[in-house]
Amino acid sequence: MSARVLDGQALAARMQEEIKPEVAAFKAMHGRPPGLGIILAGNNPASEVYVGHKVKAGTSAGFYVDLRRLPETASLDDTLALVRELNASPVHDGILVQSPLPKGMGRGAEQAVFDAIDPSKDVDGFGAPSVGLLVQNRPKLVACTPSGVIELLVRENIPIAGRHAVVIGRSDIVGKPMAMLLLHRDATVTICHSKTPDLPEVCRQADILVAAVGRPGLVTRNWVKPGATVIDVGINRVTDAATAARLYPPGHKRLQLFQSKGSILVGDVHPEVEEVAGALTPVPGGVGPLTITMLMANTLKAARERAVVGG
Ligand code: NAD
Repeated sequence: MSARVLDGQALAARMQEEIKPEVAAFKAMHGRPPGLGIILAGNNPASEVYVGHKVKAGTSAGFYVDLRRLPETASLDDTLALVRELNASPVHDGILVQSPLPKGMGRGAEQAVFDAIDPSKDVDGFGAPSVGLLVQNRPKLVACTPSGVIELLVRENIPIAGRHAVVIGRSDIVGKPMAMLLLHRDATVTICHSKTPDLPEVCRQADILVAAVGRPGLVTRNWVKPGATVIDVGINRVTDAATAARLYPPGHKRLQLFQSKGSILVGDVHPEVEEVAGALTPVPGGVGPLTITMLMANTLKAARERAVVGG
């Protein structure tokens, strides 16, 4: 058996097309496009790539995207001052602070910045008010990666209610909100993490298995119940030949890509899981593109709600 591929890339492209006319309609009604402010502090190469994708996707869908850069040496106060400026701006409907922030800002800086964002503009859904509303099943703006996963499951007609969903990973940005969203759709949810004993045994009970760990190929075929839906959130850059060889057989085109480029992006799910799962998201081209599309959807939602509240 070979798993059905859940093509997040294609769904993201469709959703972008759905959003475009809605963005145009907002602009026609309000005389300005919905606006997204992105704060990028420092020069983390991965963040540059992620932010580049966000700027490109937002601009091509018709949003006003305002990238504000801060130097690596910027302080937490500098970042908070910029957040306050964007909070007060009438043309910024969404604010996103790209993580990780430079280490020099100190421990707890990220949450302090997320909490400083006006909740009506919290398009990443990481601030305490957004999280609280999600937990109480009164969601306003929900973290983009887990809401993208739900969008994919729903549009692919994968039943959630009454199913056993196992989420590996308990981070604030993926694992926890993912578990909440599945719970609110009436799944029975188990959250696993680095201290969970017998992890493969727990995973084998899943009808829907979500891996959000950050370990290349952690989930192998004997962790997966035949026919289960497997969602691979992990994005891991593999640079060592031994890991690449553990994931792909000799001659495989992904291994050839690794050999020619010296690195490759892989998920948390071993490719062999394709032989046992009923449906599976690829990496790349699965959950990643949806995350960006959900950011656009959240920005449009925030803009509309702010327009209503503002009269
Ligand atoms: P994180 O490091 O904050 O959390 C990882 C979680 O995995 C922790 O809760 C930890 O307990 C758990 N864990 C670690 N080792 C484990 C093990 N051996 N067994 C079981 N659990 C273990 O990471 P995160 O920010 O949640 O991201 C997870 C992965 O998802 C990363 O690869 C990241 O790059 C990726 N990610 C992808 C997207 C996307 O758009 N597709 C968005 C965010 C994160």
